[in-house]
Amino acid sequence: MKKWGFAGPDKCYLCDQLAESRDHIFSTCVFYITTHKQLFGQFTSFLPRSWEDNLLWATRKFGVKKPCALVGRLIWQSHISHILRERYRRAFGENGKTTETLVSRVQSEVRVMVQDPVLLEKYWAAAS
Ligand SMILES: [Zn+2]
Repeated sequence: MKKWGFAGPDKCYLCDQLAESRDHIFSTCVFYITTHKQLFGQFTSFLPRSWEDNLLWATRKFGVKKPCALVGRLIWQSHISHILRERYRRAFGENGKTTETLVSRVQSEVRVMVQDPVLLEKYWAAAS
């Protein structure tokens, strides 16, 4: 995150255990791993080793124009977004949410998106 110009402590805001980096936040952070498993664990045992690995996996897995891939992509994108929001929430001194709360918010957000025909059409049209 420091490479992106964000000041902060040396330790990750999400786990408070290891040094914060993009690769850590989106692959090896226990907070990320826990939420990733809760969201994708019943479909795959894949765990990313880096941000690039995560992005490549998502592109291969969800980069096709199929309804199930579209839902997977929405979950993946929402998960990444919520991880960042959780990181900022903690960085600005707010209380951290639990992994269960984050997963519940991702699921609720995606549920709303797939139930809205206008939004769904927009996401479907954007799918490659
Ligand atoms: Zn961490």
